[in-house]
Amino acid sequence: MQPLTSKLPGVGTTIFTTMSHLAEEFGAINLSQGFPDFQPPAQLLDLVTEHMHRGHNQYPPMAGVEALREQIAAKVAALYGADADPVTDITVTSGATEALFCAIHSIVRAGDEVVVFDPAYDSYEPAVTLAGAKTIHIPLRSPSFGIDWGRLTAALNERTRLVIINTPHNPTGSVLLREDLDRLASTLSTYDCYVLSDEVYEHIVFDDLGHTSVLAHPELAERSFAVFSFGKTYHATGWKVGYCVAPGPLTAEFRRVHQFNTFTTVTPLQFALADYLQRCPEHHLGLSDFYQRKRDYFLEAMRDTRFVMKPSRGTYFQLADYSEISDLPDEKFARWLTEAHKVAVIPVSAFYDEPPDRRIVRFCFAKELETLEEAAQRLRAL
Ligand code: PMP
Ligand code: GLN
Repeated sequence: MQPLTSKLPGVGTTIFTTMSHLAEEFGAINLSQGFPDFQPPAQLLDLVTEHMHRGHNQYPPMAGVEALREQIAAKVAALYGADADPVTDITVTSGATEALFCAIHSIVRAGDEVVVFDPAYDSYEPAVTLAGAKTIHIPLRSPSFGIDWGRLTAALNERTRLVIINTPHNPTGSVLLREDLDRLASTLSTYDCYVLSDEVYEHIVFDDLGHTSVLAHPELAERSFAVFSFGKTYHATGWKVGYCVAPGPLTAEFRRVHQFNTFTTVTPLQFALADYLQRCPEHHLGLSDFYQRKRDYFLEAMRDTRFVMKPSRGTYFQLADYSEISDLPDEKFARWLTEAHKVAVIPVSAFYDEPPDRRIVRFCFAKELETLEEAAQRLRAL
């Protein structure tokens, strides 16, 4: 046998896994990988057990439990005015990660180009590479992390098959506004190009800005896969339940991939989420305020440190410039901070093809206030 050549030679273990391991090894407060240190709603946990005992333990339909797809349809209609048919336009997936992978593989072919905006979430490019396509990296504009429309226009050509957007944006916390989506729609109007819109932080938007979904933009919705995650909304990142909303013809292709990828997603979780959505439709309405309090608490607690905090308008992440503290490049700094000061963070260069600045780290503030206070106390010593 010839030695195995990797299909993803540039890919190592993800930075999230690496930093969480390091946090564990050194007993550090883990503000690196994005997950809450508190429980999902108790009633939701009870519903999972209830559905297991009621016998909801075998394969559900390939596209997802009907009751859950109906709840999702009602939700996107209420929030975004979307007319999504649960039968033809909505698919439940094993996390947003699976939805992103299936969307990319359902339409991207070898030789195509896919545009991503850097810093970009780490799962996009490997999925594009596995499809045999090329990722075109366009940096977001500094310091606002908005889209550079000139560079996008210059990058588009007849090979561009897909543009991936993410709002609210991990890791910068920037958000796209309605005018951005208008501009995207007009920029793409003459191209045979789809949009993959990663909206997993849809319910975590601060300062009354509100979330702008492609589903609320009829011109974009026609050519878009919109991807969401229950993991973020219900403080249950380990459940890995997400969904994709896309017009019928796109969903048909999406399901061709999905049915041979995971086929479907854990049954009792789907039933429990369907019930909970119906019983507590107000849960997600309080989420922005819930996380804004955490953001503001963390900002205040970090005021007497030498980190310079960047504005975060959404998500549960916060970027910080540490150049007043250290000259180390961000990966080394993150390692040092974890080992020596027992606070783990994410080096932001991991989200870039070509990092413009190596003195920025990402904090996750989806934590109890005591956890944030304890971390800030350690960081004030730097
Ligand atoms: N997209 C972004 C921007 C994310 O931050 C995450 C984080 N976990 C995902 C997708 C994946 O979501 P899931 O855990 O539901 O697969
Ligand atoms: N989305 C999470 C983050 O940005 C990580 C998810 C993962 O570890 N794959 O931290």
